[in-house]
Amino acid sequence: MGELGEDSSVVVVVGASLAGWRAVETLRSEGYGGAITLVGEELHLPYDRPPLSKQVLAGTWPPEKAVLADTRRTDELRVREVLGRRAVGLDAAGRKVTLDDGTVLSADGVVIATGAAPRQLPSVGGLGPRDGLFTLRTMDDSVALRAAVTGRDSARVVIIGAGFIGAEVASTCAGLGCRVTVLEALDIPLAPVLGPMVGGHCASLYRSHGVTLQLGVSVAGVRRGGEGDAGAGAGVPPLVVELADAQAVPADVVVVGIGVAPLTGWLEDSGLTIENGVVCDDRLFAADGVVAAGDVARWRWRYDGTEELIRIEHWQVAAEAGVAAARSLLAGRADATAFTPIPYFWSDQFGIRFQVLGSPGGGDEVVIADGSLDEGKFVALYGRAGRLRAVMAIGRPRQLMGFRPLLEAGTSWDDALAHAAG
Ligand SMILES: Cc1cc2nc3c(=O)[nH]c(=O)nc-3n(C[C@H](O)[C@H](O)[C@H](O)COP(=O)(O)OP(=O)(O)OC[C@H]3O[C@@H](n4cnc5c(N)ncnc54)[C@H](O)[C@@H]3O)c2cc1C
Repeated sequence: MGELGEDSSVVVVVGASLAGWRAVETLRSEGYGGAITLVGEELHLPYDRPPLSKQVLAGTWPPEKAVLADTRRTDELRVREVLGRRAVGLDAAGRKVTLDDGTVLSADGVVIATGAAPRQLPSVGGLGPRDGLFTLRTMDDSVALRAAVTGRDSARVVIIGAGFIGAEVASTCAGLGCRVTVLEALDIPLAPVLGPMVGGHCASLYRSHGVTLQLGVSVAGVRRGGEGDAGAGAGVPPLVVELADAQAVPADVVVVGIGVAPLTGWLEDSGLTIENGVVCDDRLFAADGVVAAGDVARWRWRYDGTEELIRIEHWQVAAEAGVAAARSLLAGRADATAFTPIPYFWSDQFGIRFQVLGSPGGGDEVVIADGSLDEGKFVALYGRAGRLRAVMAIGRPRQLMGFRPLLEAGTSWDDALAHAAG
């Protein structure tokens, strides 16, 4: 095996999705001439996930429109694809990746980009998509979920979890004419992320779009419906969501949206540090010659004189991390530069776009800097420890981006408020 700069060298990218694909593109655009092997558990070439809860679920986009890389592009970039294969082990020191068919891939550089998988409810008695119980992460999930919610008139869709995925699925299903109920354990949706004021606004969005939102409820499990579940004039529901207070919520389709966990099981004996993700340094190195990017990576994020181990589950950061990880691999650990993005994410729901820059927290001080909650269009500033930490906006994209330089400069909370007032 040669050094990474040599044409005889090999980079193995594990995870054929956004971060992995951005790493592949970057290796080539930065002049890497060696071999690239892209390993992916799914049979699909890389595609984008945001449309899965939006346009693909709504039926306004065919699945092909979400594709990130087709075979013409992978041929052009001379990528050897190994799809439908799962990596089951990594020897980080030896840079060897073992696949589920026993193949061992030796590499000079490894990119870990295995993303995250939905958390499952524990008490579902073996029920799954064929029974109408779904999670939503893959294209196959989205296509199957769409078939289920459009397979009958006014399907009763019960969504467990009022996070961003839950809200987007609720919004899309309501738009498809489904009767949608959302069950959320918190008293205010998204309060730990966006705070109670903005979270309360999110709750009002569900309700004003005809979605039944039950807050502060605990789901005990999901089971098949029986004769005893048939209400007056209603048939036996295919599924029933049981709540801890003994309430039974009938459903044709149940979608579990209770968050995701990083896919690190295959790295257990790798020698890497795994703690809520693959722990990396500030340049995305998990070990010499091994970098991680995207939803699976937890790296030392330096911002405004602070440093924290952070893992972010959003598109923009995953895309930027794929680029940064490839650059780091090519530069080598000593010469690589730190990955210091200003995190950004968006969510489309109920006809509006949420956009968030920075890293908000539920306990932050929140001030509306432009517009108002009543108007439904506003910019909110998030302050913590005397500093501006995040900015979120609904229907104010230009104004939001106007605050970006302040976040980049690490502005004090007082200066940010003065800027907003001026
Ligand atoms: C429905 C949905 C909607 C979203 N909407 C938004 C949005 O509006 N805005 C936003 O900012 N973000 C959104 N996101 C989040 C965004 O899509 C993710 O942050 C992004 O996909 C992360 O990319 P990734 O490459 O790190 O991981 P992933 O996209 O999860 O890809 C990881 C890939 O690795 C494969 N893999 C896993 N383990 C192995 C293994 N052992 N061997 C081989 N392959 C493996 C997986 O099969 C998968 O294909 C959404 C996500 C979903 C699911």
